[in-house]
Amino acid sequence: EEFADNHFIRTIIEDDLASGKHQQIQTRFPPEPNGYLHIGHAKSICLNFGLATVYDGLCNLRFDDTNPEKESDEYVRSIKEDVTWMGFQWQGEPHFASDYFEDLYQYAIGLIQAGKAYVDELNAEEMRQYRGTLTEPGKNSPYRDRTPEENLDLFQRMRAGEFPDGSKTLRLKIDMAAGNVNLRDPVIYRIRRVHHHRTGDKWCIYPMYDYTHAISDAIENITHSLCTLEFESHRPLYDWVLDNIPIQTHPRQYEFSRLELLYSITSKRKLNQLVVENHVSGWDDPRMPTIAGMRRRGYTPAGLRLFSKRVGISKSENVVDMNVLEGAVREELENSSPRLMAILSPLKIELTNFDEFLTQSRSAPFHPHHEEMGERNVPIARHIYIEQDDFALEPPPKWQRLTVGGEVRLRYSYVIKCEEVVTDEMGNVIELKCSIDHDTLGKKPEGRKVKGVIHWLSAEHAVHATVRLYERLFTVERPDAVRDENGEYKNFTEFLNPHSVTEVSALIEPVANTLAPEARYQFERLGYFVTDRYDHTPEKPVFNRTVGLKESF
Ligand code: ATP
Ligand code: MG
Ligand code: MG
Repeated sequence: EEFADNHFIRTIIEDDLASGKHQQIQTRFPPEPNGYLHIGHAKSICLNFGLATVYDGLCNLRFDDTNPEKESDEYVRSIKEDVTWMGFQWQGEPHFASDYFEDLYQYAIGLIQAGKAYVDELNAEEMRQYRGTLTEPGKNSPYRDRTPEENLDLFQRMRAGEFPDGSKTLRLKIDMAAGNVNLRDPVIYRIRRVHHHRTGDKWCIYPMYDYTHAISDAIENITHSLCTLEFESHRPLYDWVLDNIPIQTHPRQYEFSRLELLYSITSKRKLNQLVVENHVSGWDDPRMPTIAGMRRRGYTPAGLRLFSKRVGISKSENVVDMNVLEGAVREELENSSPRLMAILSPLKIELTNFDEFLTQSRSAPFHPHHEEMGERNVPIARHIYIEQDDFALEPPPKWQRLTVGGEVRLRYSYVIKCEEVVTDEMGNVIELKCSIDHDTLGKKPEGRKVKGVIHWLSAEHAVHATVRLYERLFTVERPDAVRDENGEYKNFTEFLNPHSVTEVSALIEPVANTLAPEARYQFERLGYFVTDRYDHTPEKPVFNRTVGLKESF
C-alpha cells in the first residue's frame, strides 16, 4: 500500500468505522490560495487524499480564502494543477470558504441574537492589552455588554459599509479569563475594504480563520478535519463554534506535526519573498521546494508520495533531511527512467584505427532491467567525446579510467587504449589519440582484464543541449532559524547558496532531439535529468538535473 501506515489517525478512523459512528469518511485539503503549494502541503495532500483512498471515503479540495489581500486566481489555478499532478482527484467541484460567506454571516447573526457575540470597538493595540497573558487573565472590553439588539444593528451596519476599516470587530462572548487564550473572546469578523478574488467588492467584512474553518468543515460534512499541531490550542474554539450554532454535523479535528525540510523553507510567505525579491526565477523555479518547482526539477508524483509515506504521520517533531526526499525520488526514478549517455565536460578523442567497414555501432537497451523500454542505436565514429574527468595524465592509485598507455571500455562498445596525448601551449590536455581493440565488441579482451567502463558519444552524432545542474538553495540547515548576537532572527536570504544553479553546454545522444518536455532520463554515471517543462524544445534541448545517483551529503 502506497500511503503512510499504522498512524494514530488511521486508528481513530478504523475505530469510527467499526463502531458505526461513520459509514464513510470525508476529509478535506484546505489550502489558502496565497501562494504555491510546497513539500509540506504534499504531505497533507497525501494524508487527506490518501485516507480517502484507503478507506473508500471522499476528500474535498477547499480554498480557505478569507484573507483577500494575499489571495489570487493564479494561486487557485496552481493549487488545482498541483493536486491533480500529485495523482489525486477531489470530490465534486472545488469548494471555497467564500462560497459560505452568506451562511457564515447568518450564523453570526444567530450568535448575536443568542447573546454570544458582540461588536467591539477596541483597536488592535487595546485588544492586545485587554487579552492578558498566558499567566494572567484578560479583562472584559467596555463594549462587551451591549444588548443583542444594539449588536445586531451595529453588525448589519458593519456589513453595509457604514464604518471605516478596523474601527469595529465582531467577537465571540466566551470567557476573558479562559486559560486558553484562544477562548478569550476571539474576533470572528473584521472590516476590510479589499477586493476579493471571487466575491469582488460584495463584502467589506471578512470572517476570521477559526470561525470560518469550523463552519466550512461542518457544511461539507467533513468527518475528520486534519491540521497541523499549531492548531491544537484552537480546537476548543473549533468545538465551541460548532456547539453554539444550529448545525447538525460536528467534525472532529485532529492534529499532526508539520513537516520541516532541512536546507529548505516550508512557508508560503517566505517562498513568496524569494520570488518577489528575484532570488529565484519564480514559484516554479526548479530549486524551489514548491510542488511546481519540484515537478520542473523532475521529481515524480510517485516519488513525492513515497517520501510522504516515509516521513509518516505523528505528533512528534518531523524535521527531515533533504537526503530522505532525494532518496525517495531517486529510488522511484531508478526503475522508471530510461538511460542515455551524455557528456557534461567533453574531451575529444580520435580513434586512430577507426574503420568504417570494420568498426561497428551497437544498439543498447534503454534500461538494463527493463526490456520493455526498448533499445536505441549507439553510433560510433572516428571522433568521440568522453568526460574530462575520465582521463588523468597522472592517475591516482587504483585508477580504472583512462590514462596514457591504459585501456578502458566504452560503454556498449569497444575497449580502447590511449596512445597519445595532445596538449596546448599551456600543457592542457585537449585531445587524445586512442586505438580500438576490434576484438572486444561484446566480449572480453584476450589475456588481460580491463575494469573501467566509461560513457562516451560520437562527436558527429551527438546533440548539443543546455544542462542545468542544481545544488541546495541554502547553505545552512535551518535558514529561517539563524539568530544574530542580539537574538534576532537573521534574514534567511543571507543564507542563499550562490552556486545553487550552474548551466553547462552539454552533449547528448541523438534521441535528445526527439523528446517532449518533462521527459525523464538517467544520464549514465551523472544522475537523473528531465527536459525542462517550459524551455525545452526538440531543436534546442534543455535538461534539468533532478538528483544525482548517490547521496550528495
Ligand atoms: P504556510 O505557512 O506555508 O502558508 P499554511 O499551513 O498556512 O502554510 P495552508 O494553505 O493553510 O498553509 O495549508 C493547507 C493545508 O496544508 C493545511 O491543512 C496545513 O495544515 C497543511 N500544511 C501546510 N504546511 C504544512 C507542513 N509543513 N507540513 C504538513 N502539513 C502542512
Ligand atoms: Mg493556513
Ligand atoms: Mg500560511
